[in-house]
Amino acid sequence: MDIYSGRFVLILILSFISKSSSQSIIQISPEKYHKSSAADLIYCDSWRFSVETNDAGIWTQVPSRCQDYVHDYLTGVRYRSDSEMVALNSLDFAKTVEFAGNGKDAWVFDIDETLLSNLPYYALHGFGSETFDEVSFDEWVDLAEAPALPASLKLYKELQEMGFTIFLLTGRSEIQRNVTVKNLQYSGYRNWEKLILRGPADSGKPAIVYKSERRKLLQDEGYTIHGSSGDQWSDLLGFAVAQRSFKLPNPMYYIA
Ligand SMILES: [Mg+2]
Repeated sequence: MDIYSGRFVLILILSFISKSSSQSIIQISPEKYHKSSAADLIYCDSWRFSVETNDAGIWTQVPSRCQDYVHDYLTGVRYRSDSEMVALNSLDFAKTVEFAGNGKDAWVFDIDETLLSNLPYYALHGFGSETFDEVSFDEWVDLAEAPALPASLKLYKELQEMGFTIFLLTGRSEIQRNVTVKNLQYSGYRNWEKLILRGPADSGKPAIVYKSERRKLLQDEGYTIHGSSGDQWSDLLGFAVAQRSFKLPNPMYYIA
């Protein structure tokens, strides 16, 4: 085998490995990948660290120099890998939980960018670089076609098999209940205990308050919230917090 045919075989093998083990959540054609400068890559890596840790606090839009970086992160293998790590950490913790065994051992999941991925929508809207447009986003929600985040779907099923009672706590409106149920089922989610959406009384409440209040109600009903999964800190902080909280990556938007 000469050096050129050897190289060809190597490329074939690498191509097979990357296709079989490193799939992104959605498929984006290679020509849309970008070449950020080295300085931008370092800066945007640090920016992403600061928003994921919540050190950045409130932020409104992806910095312009990081738009390509965020695009490539979300459509490449890293987003999927990060999500898988969060699910692994969650499962490791879940295995340590001592069950009361009374059906009151709970796990709370957020929905958007936690169980379901809106990447097909955000791919058409700049991956967080455009100002959020509620009208077009709600039209997307009404389609009920958001795919599952693969790592979260797997975790969801594992937790159910272990005996956790699953609650879904979302910032979506009660008006969107039917399409949300339809989308969850379409994406493979089954047998949650309760789907909690914002009612009229929750209108205008910061997410962190609304979600804390609803977790408190669950605790008042006797549930122990062992774990909670969300892509926003407002899914996880506040009061009536879970014993352990698991933050999924989301460098596209921030919800207070
Ligand atoms: Mg979310």
